[in-house]
Amino acid sequence: MPPTSIQSFFSSSSPSKSSPGDGFTPDEMTLPASASTWTPTLDYEESSIGSLEPGPRNLTLMGRIVNFYEVPKPSKRPSAAQGYVKIMLADDTGSMTVRLWYNKTEYKVKLGQLVSVWTVHVSMGSEHTSLAPTAAPLFTSIYPEGERNCYFMVHERIDDGNMFKRPFGVRDSQVLPGLMTLKNFTDGGYDVEDCKLLVCVKSIGARKKFTNKNGTTSELTTVGIFDDTTEAQLTLYGPVSNSASSWTPSQTVLLVANPGWRIDRTAKLSLNANTQLHIDPNTADARYVRALAQRLTKKEHVNPAFPADLFDVEAAESAAVRVLYMLSEIDEFARGNPREKIMGYISVLVTEFHVVTNYKRNMLMSTECCGLPIFANAVTAKCRQCNKDNVLRINPRILGNIIDETGQISSGKLILSDDAWEQLLGRTAEQLVTAPLDVMKYLEQRLLFLRLTLGFGLYLGNDEVGRLAIWCVKM
Ligand SMILES: [Zn+2]
Repeated sequence: MPPTSIQSFFSSSSPSKSSPGDGFTPDEMTLPASASTWTPTLDYEESSIGSLEPGPRNLTLMGRIVNFYEVPKPSKRPSAAQGYVKIMLADDTGSMTVRLWYNKTEYKVKLGQLVSVWTVHVSMGSEHTSLAPTAAPLFTSIYPEGERNCYFMVHERIDDGNMFKRPFGVRDSQVLPGLMTLKNFTDGGYDVEDCKLLVCVKSIGARKKFTNKNGTTSELTTVGIFDDTTEAQLTLYGPVSNSASSWTPSQTVLLVANPGWRIDRTAKLSLNANTQLHIDPNTADARYVRALAQRLTKKEHVNPAFPADLFDVEAAESAAVRVLYMLSEIDEFARGNPREKIMGYISVLVTEFHVVTNYKRNMLMSTECCGLPIFANAVTAKCRQCNKDNVLRINPRILGNIIDETGQISSGKLILSDDAWEQLLGRTAEQLVTAPLDVMKYLEQRLLFLRLTLGFGLYLGNDEVGRLAIWCVKM
């Protein structure tokens, strides 16, 4: 008996009973699911998700993946579906569920992907069936490998990152209903129906394997997130954990609606069936969160690199006029000319050195990776998150406050080039980290309250936190 509708492919409750008479040869069943091999034989109507109604209709729908998980349903019959990916698809008007059945095709879906679906039927799920979650009750089941009128396509080339970036019909002039801060969420807001969080990615953990209660292994990624009120964690389990690999700490903003949660010392979020996760939505609030994140992380970066592209050190070195500034004059200049660049010299004393302290704390050198600080008494160290080797720079905190007769620069606020460090310490970073303790003690005593001339550059540029970049040290 040939199946009369697409639904007959999806009798997931009794896969063993369904008959194979679908009219497709085994060769047709193994066609790769790529755009070039599929030609629609019907006329499809484009529709926004928000205007969908249940019933038969040839539809083409477009949206972004805001949640998904895989449901394996192994069947002994080779041509039968072996499982499905349950995808929540959202455009700017609404969200729906797509049950994407597969046989041999591995759908490499990720959160945020722009996709199109061609289908001939949309149904309404109910609370009593697990066909679709309550957050996206309209659903369609498609089996592109077994039904030639259905198709699923991930758009990579045409995705310029602009389409469907204003979820929930959000307008800049209106507050998004249910939007709250992480702090409010942690303090009880998780009970609010349709609660939404707008957070920035702070760090991305490595994918880790873990064993489920039923003994199967799966993967997870833990992502550090924050807004201007507090920090939290978002853990992605299973195939969805791969989605975080394209996110950038301090850049990527996530709009999370109805997250799964556990409140410990901080909130631990996850995706449940009703969660929607939108990446970098184009809304005023999201832009605010990103700008805030960038300001915070600029201040917080433990060891910014010397901005070699901003300053012409060679020209300054050979300049006929070398201006010596007082610290108060630099401050005045920066306030009066926030867009200009200056280079010159200052004559200062270092009031404290912390070489030995930082050595004992294993913090002589530092850098950041994956949004997290790395410290070590070594010139390279592995990032604990991504396991990559990082080249470390000398920790600017080994210099205490720096003063002249007119002002002070607090500890850690100077950015020294590698050359400047070498001139100051009389040794390379490599030599510093391998020096015996008594040499470090001697170094501190020798440099303390010594009059130093520092060649500096300052450029406030776009919203930069004003830090003096030191390109040479003369004693
Ligand atoms: Zn890393």
